[in-house]
Amino acid sequence: MKNKLLKILCVNLLSFSVFTIAFSQNKLDSLLTVRGFCIGAPAPERVDEFVKFINEELAPRKVNTLIVRVDYHYQFESHPELREDNTLSKADIKKMVAACKKNNINIIPQVNMLGHQSWANKTNKFLIAYPQFDETPWVKMPEKYEWPNADKLYCKSYCPLHPDVHKVLFDVIDEICDAFETNAFHAGMDEVFYLGEDKCPRCGGRDKAELFAGEVRTLRDHLAQKNRQLWIWGDRLIDGKTTGLGMWEASYNNTYRAVDMIPKDVIICDWHYERADKTPVYFAMKGLNVITCPWRKPAIAVAQTEDMVNFKLQSSKEMQPHFYGMMQTVWSDAGQFLDGFYGRIKDDKAGNDTAWNCFRTMYDAIDKLDNSEQAMGSSKQ
Ligand SMILES: [Zn+2]
Repeated sequence: MKNKLLKILCVNLLSFSVFTIAFSQNKLDSLLTVRGFCIGAPAPERVDEFVKFINEELAPRKVNTLIVRVDYHYQFESHPELREDNTLSKADIKKMVAACKKNNINIIPQVNMLGHQSWANKTNKFLIAYPQFDETPWVKMPEKYEWPNADKLYCKSYCPLHPDVHKVLFDVIDEICDAFETNAFHAGMDEVFYLGEDKCPRCGGRDKAELFAGEVRTLRDHLAQKNRQLWIWGDRLIDGKTTGLGMWEASYNNTYRAVDMIPKDVIICDWHYERADKTPVYFAMKGLNVITCPWRKPAIAVAQTEDMVNFKLQSSKEMQPHFYGMMQTVWSDAGQFLDGFYGRIKDDKAGNDTAWNCFRTMYDAIDKLDNSEQAMGSSKQ
């Protein structure tokens, strides 16, 4: 009898402490399901330093999602011909994976699909190894890149209708997802200017929205076979002309209609760097989960964080889950960011408008949310 009473007491104490922990996590989770950080992969010699940053800076700020933009900076075994110089080894990746596991952070690799197959005057490994996949083989890379240019070259794309292209891409996706032991993959798919080109024998004359949506669906369906989720940037799904958001941040070639054609389980990373545009509402009303992504303007990141929470608190229970969270984006590699973050380099031109200031400020605002009385179901509004 005594033992039984003791047992009940212990079980109750245990469930009380579990409940307390769960409640404090759930409060922040209920407001921002995803608290993300997205950055270019570190060079191999800086992996240990980056792992330290994960442990000492990301984890205490309750970051729960880390996107590492790897592209071909990995020692792919299935396709060694795609390796860039100075690539990460499997052991390098495992160090990051272990740190993330320890800190309950979902780590997600990114390899750019469709667009971003070149940068400035340099073609990326994918089209160097497989020039037959180039959507615009007639556009020669300039010696000195400048924008605007007669070819309207921003970045090269691969042709989504080439019959052999997905065989290689699926190998790449599977291998990188296995290495990261992940249940999600970020496919980029932003700023695709070359798509459905008239001179492409396969794509010419086709509907660009259908081409874009078709590629999203193809990648999504492949990932779904292994219970992996597809994440993409949102800009191709926004109507540039109507919104006035410009040709990088939104689409001027009609791909935006794809927003009604893509599967609803694709996660949208909606980046806006100059203003807290209200596009999360648009994505959420399409039934898509949306994450707002700032870059280097701290005040805008704070406004976007407040928007994300307010959109959620002021929505129906059907809409609420679609307001999915916030993610700091960093458009350098990890090494350069760490130099800025730890004050080893200064960006005098940018002043306070740096990715590291934005990261600190946004996560301070998120921390305040955690300590505020705002929570789902107990809103004072
Ligand atoms: Zn094509």
